[in-house]
Amino acid sequence: MGIQERNEKLFYRVLMEDIEALMPIVYTPTVGLACTQYGHIFRRPKGLFISILDRGHIRSILDNWPDTNVAVIVVTDGERILGLGDLGVYGMGIPVGKLCLYTACAGIRPEKCLPVVIDVGTDNETLLKDPFYMGLYQKRDRSQAYDDLIDEFMEAVVDKYGQDTLIQFEDFGNHNAFRFLRKYREKYCTFNDDIQGTASVALAGLLAAQRAVGKPITEHRVLFLGAGEAALGIANLIVMAMMETGMTQAEARKKIWMYDKDGLLVKGRQQETDSNQEAFIHESPGDVQSFLDAVNAIKPTAIIGVAGAGRLFTHDVIKAMGTLNERPIIFALSNPTNKAECTAEEAYTLTDGRCLFASGSPFGPVTLSDGRVLTPGQGNNAYIFPGVGLAVILSGVRHISDTVFLETLAEQLTDKELAEGRLYPPLSNIREVSIQMAVKVVEYLYAKGMAFHYPEPVDKDAFVRATVWKTDYESFLPDTYDWPGRKLSTK
Ligand code: NAP
Ligand code: MN
Repeated sequence: MGIQERNEKLFYRVLMEDIEALMPIVYTPTVGLACTQYGHIFRRPKGLFISILDRGHIRSILDNWPDTNVAVIVVTDGERILGLGDLGVYGMGIPVGKLCLYTACAGIRPEKCLPVVIDVGTDNETLLKDPFYMGLYQKRDRSQAYDDLIDEFMEAVVDKYGQDTLIQFEDFGNHNAFRFLRKYREKYCTFNDDIQGTASVALAGLLAAQRAVGKPITEHRVLFLGAGEAALGIANLIVMAMMETGMTQAEARKKIWMYDKDGLLVKGRQQETDSNQEAFIHESPGDVQSFLDAVNAIKPTAIIGVAGAGRLFTHDVIKAMGTLNERPIIFALSNPTNKAECTAEEAYTLTDGRCLFASGSPFGPVTLSDGRVLTPGQGNNAYIFPGVGLAVILSGVRHISDTVFLETLAEQLTDKELAEGRLYPPLSNIREVSIQMAVKVVEYLYAKGMAFHYPEPVDKDAFVRATVWKTDYESFLPDTYDWPGRKLSTK
């Protein structure tokens, strides 16, 4: 981060040249560690902190930000940072890290990116006693004042930077994430990466896995561990993908099951469920006491872990998946690494290398006892949001429809990469991946009449590539050129 302060171009050049090694530092898992200790390792301020005591003054706070040309904002209130829970304003590391990736992966100009933390307090007792904590020492305000603050923030942003400013919600608590998405999606240019970005990257992984398994997506049965933002986002997008092939919504929903802290989501269960989950509550398949029971009763072709609760894909669960399926699909998406539902090594060795594995945080390649080397996929949202963000900014869309997130990256994977066990293109290639996806999304937005940037560029590929920010040093010389000498003289 010191390099970023002193020489931004150098920082991004280094980041881009070895993105595979450095992304785990700028992003999960290291950014999670940095957030837990944010006040203790703090050097210089980054991003904008807006607290509930600033109500009525957000517009003038924005006026103080040095760059006036902001196009993308990533905002969090710090309530659910990765799978680490409530970190209050220490969550600032997340918007900062995500925006670094907007620039590194999709070439969005750094000065167009604004990281924001909304401070309404924290329920984290450790932080409330931490003398280095730089947020309000109070419990989270969950009253109407909180909603009013977010409303004021949204209005101030479009007032200052325009209606087409992209506002990405990140790591809000479950209840607020769904609420705000519903409330703002038709009013602002906004999306929630934990719900929609995750859905897109997970679906891309599933579509790649389906290429390896050779079964269409409609023949899959998916069991989620976790029934929150990520699970519901992914599930709804899978339903949309199934419906694209002609399946009805009701049939598609029947293919998807969820298991949360209180067990399987089934009709008539004692524990509470919320309205977002309703579509995925089915008749009980019999006596289910554990996740292993659920696997055996439902016989899923894919299990997707998004509970943020650690190693819950036990050896028995993985082995059961291996017995039920020739090519089981096992996604352990919880972040950071120690929250993943299982390791890549466990998934591959316990299924004799047959499973298709992806994780949220990176795992290295695994060598099996027979010498085969398998490369796990990283279901990293960074494959999606920079490219989608670039496309959204360039085409000037007003609202981001869910269908945008179906424009995935599955086709970008070669057969050779698939044979190595990969479900996503290599991270080292992420810049090209993001640009190609941006081109695809731009084409889609114009085709559907959702783009507002006119005139419509004829060559979308050239249009996107021409805007991409590069780290070459600019020349500060004035523009010099020759005039034909004879016209300047009487001779
Ligand atoms: P969330 O909305 O809080 O959802 C968590 C869900 O997991 C809830 O349904 C919760 O049930 C359930 N759960 C908690 N403990 C459990 C347990 N012991 N057994 C079974 N279920 C349990 O959080 P989220 O946004 O979905 O994120 C969850 C995790 O996914 C995080 O670790 C996050 O880092 C990760 N994630 C990964 C990616 C990615 O890799 N691309 C993207 C986004 C999120 P209750 O509601 O009953 O508590
Ligand atoms: Mn997130």
